[in-house]
Amino acid sequence: MHAAFDTLRSTPRMPALFVGHGSPMNAIEDNAWSRQWRAVGEQLPMPNAILCVSAHWMTRGATLADVSAQPRTIHDFGGFPAALYAQQYPAPGAPQVAAAAIELVRATHVEADTQWGLDHGAWSVLMHLFPRADVPVFQLSLDLARSTQAHFDLARELKALREKGVLVVASGNLVHNLRALAPGAAPYDWALEFDARMSDAIERRDVPSVIDADRLGAITHLAHPTPEHFLPLLYTLGVADAADELRWFNEGFDLASISMRSFVLS
Ligand code: ZN
Repeated sequence: MHAAFDTLRSTPRMPALFVGHGSPMNAIEDNAWSRQWRAVGEQLPMPNAILCVSAHWMTRGATLADVSAQPRTIHDFGGFPAALYAQQYPAPGAPQVAAAAIELVRATHVEADTQWGLDHGAWSVLMHLFPRADVPVFQLSLDLARSTQAHFDLARELKALREKGVLVVASGNLVHNLRALAPGAAPYDWALEFDARMSDAIERRDVPSVIDADRLGAITHLAHPTPEHFLPLLYTLGVADAADELRWFNEGFDLASISMRSFVLS
């Protein structure tokens, strides 16, 4: 393995998280979702670094890993209050660990990148999980040209990072349809059904059913008109194994079409 790993502090095997991030406002609101993020964060072991796979770093035809020493906080949204644009998440980058992660992946060419930083899928969650911003963090992009199977296979190759003190935080949403947002309304039937089917598959560690979610047809298309909030899920499952214990949190819906359901595998 890469020499950079030898310099890392010995830690317990790190958990892997899937976090439903929902609205960017969760970054600065004290609400039921963000309070759970804080509570989960307080229970996590101290990692050497965090690898974040966010729905909001999309590439096509390449997978990038951010190797910058100080990733910038990206305010990648529009029409929100000034207080949200004022937020900074000043965690250092993890250039050595990111470079080592790039070498770990054999089947896919992962390219080093210094342009991205931390998008809101990463920092809105991390500022609650690790409010001191003292754990080095790097992001990996989602190559939208790849199949769900290919995302899972790539994640499989990153599994060894957990033994090196790297916490994997995948940030998306189990159901995510912005066109169907309905404040105050109950979740749609298709949203409940997709959420239930996926959580059942996750409970049973039935990864093929998650990889082949398209087979569910119309409900998958309604739950994910575009795939980017679904794909991070494959990274959490890819770095896990049958022995990991599953713990759900933030089960519930926001605005009728966003599942906030999240989990820890440890
Ligand atoms: Zn999002």
